[in-house]
Amino acid sequence: MDADVIVVGGGLSGLVAADELVREGRRVVLVDQESEANLGGQAYWSFGGLFLVNSPEQRRLGVRDSFGLAWQDWRASAGWDRLDGELPEDEWAERWARAYVEFAAEEKRAWLVERGVRFTPVVGWAERGSGTAGGHGNSVPRFHIAWGTGTGVSEPFADRVRAALHSP
Ligand SMILES: Cc1cc2nc3c(=O)[nH]c(=O)nc-3n(C[C@H](O)[C@H](O)[C@H](O)COP(=O)(O)OP(=O)(O)OC[C@H]3O[C@@H](n4cnc5c(N)ncnc54)[C@H](O)[C@@H]3O)c2cc1C
Repeated sequence: MDADVIVVGGGLSGLVAADELVREGRRVVLVDQESEANLGGQAYWSFGGLFLVNSPEQRRLGVRDSFGLAWQDWRASAGWDRLDGELPEDEWAERWARAYVEFAAEEKRAWLVERGVRFTPVVGWAERGSGTAGGHGNSVPRFHIAWGTGTGVSEPFADRVRAALHSP
């Protein structure tokens, strides 16, 4: 087989990677220990709860959220304490986390909708933690349930990967 990229694992991360690569015109080989009928990995069986910040669903329920509050929650949960000195071991974890919280507060919802994921009006409060703005955990509900739960997240990506498999 001739390919630009080999993706190992057809769970959600592999499916998203394969879909993005195909969108960019790359030829992809996707390898999984399971059959084509089992694309999606854990996400297929999951509850399909997605972390979003300051979404229309939260606003509709009267939940006041912001990037600043979510980032404060993440820092309080992570407790990064190795950001300075000769070996700032937490630096890349903190950078990744900040980029992810920014994504969740900005383009993530539109990115998912553009790829076929839809949302129920329900926002749950997973990882509630201490229940305070200064402690660990989500200080407000941020657990957005995809329409169709797990398959509502995995199948839009699996469908496109299957379509790409059978296209010339
Ligand atoms: C019941 C349940 C509910 C969940 N609910 C939520 C939720 O509501 N919200 C949330 O954010 N997360 C939830 N999760 C977690 C979430 O589903 C996973 O973190 C996510 O789907 C992991 O995706 P992944 O692609 O990284 O890994 P996986 O889904 O584990 O995919 C890995 C893939 O690699 C394949 N593989 C493994 N080893 C090999 C090998 N040696 N060779 C070839 N292929 C291999 C596997 O077959 C699989 O297809 C839930 C998980 C479960 C099980």
